[in-house]
Amino acid sequence: MKTGIIGLGAMGANMALNLDKNGYLHAVWNRTASKAEEIAEQTQAKVAASPAELARECDVIITCVSRDEDVLDVINSLTEGITPGTIVVDTSTVNAETARQAAEILREKDAHFLDSPVSGGVEGAKKGTLAMMAGGEEEILEKVRPVLSAIGDKISYIGDSGSGQACKAVNQIMAAGINQAVTEALAFGEFMGLNMDKVVDIVATGAAGNWFLDHRGKSMLADNYTPGFKLGLHHKDLSICKAMLANRTDVTLPIVEMTLIHYQRLMEAGYADEDISALFRLKRQQFRESGDM
Ligand code: NAP
Repeated sequence: MKTGIIGLGAMGANMALNLDKNGYLHAVWNRTASKAEEIAEQTQAKVAASPAELARECDVIITCVSRDEDVLDVINSLTEGITPGTIVVDTSTVNAETARQAAEILREKDAHFLDSPVSGGVEGAKKGTLAMMAGGEEEILEKVRPVLSAIGDKISYIGDSGSGQACKAVNQIMAAGINQAVTEALAFGEFMGLNMDKVVDIVATGAAGNWFLDHRGKSMLADNYTPGFKLGLHHKDLSICKAMLANRTDVTLPIVEMTLIHYQRLMEAGYADEDISALFRLKRQQFRESGDM
């Protein structure tokens, strides 16, 4: 299957390299052309002049751009060249409603759409081990599964259009809660005057053990917030979760609300590009300002 990819940022560029390694990559397009040229130099891919030109030449198109409006821009541009039967897989994290709109735009051209956001970060994109949560038609996912296997090693069909994005929202809310719990607990432990290396080691082996504690616990204690997963992106994702409930006033997302406020404060202080574990800055600061025990 001739595959094209649109959006060669931190995630998309690595997906492109893995598609190439597996013999699928045919064409690339990026808004900033230099990034597409860089990928073309490292691979067999050609640089398309526009999303429409890429669409004209590919059976499968993977998109990986930033926000809702960017996904719709790219989908509208590529429809000018798309042929019936083409499968478009969007791996960006956006609103489930945006995914449904994209599917509708493509349906009018007799093309297929899967919303398949990913989890696993830039590291997973590099290794080709992303988790992919797909919404759309299951038989279309099965058709394109061999291609997606080049970028992800856990590919799950969730349900109708939009449900991949809804599943990603579940993931992002959970990540916020874990971040809140781990950063608050470690700041508390530090305030108690404990040997925090020992605390992390022993807590990680028990019921409160988790991936975030294993991978970010000691680095945050050392004031190292190298991403990882950028705080500014998680803020965007949590805003999407909130927007997905926009017309409901009877339900709330307290963890999401609290984390958005905390991230906003950190972003205003210039930490948007740090790892989400930079939330520890706020938790620790609170204890430091309160003085000794
Ligand atoms: P990134 O490095 O900022 O790259 C964004 C890409 O989207 C760039 O190629 C950019 O083009 C392109 N783009 C943005 N707006 C566009 C538009 N209107 N038209 C055409 N192209 C446009 O972001 P990323 O980290 O790769 O993330 C991409 C998506 O994956 C996001 O939705 C993000 O939430 C999601 N995601 C990211 C991670 C992660 O750890 N980074 C993990 C899971 C999911 P230019 O080069 O011209 O700016």
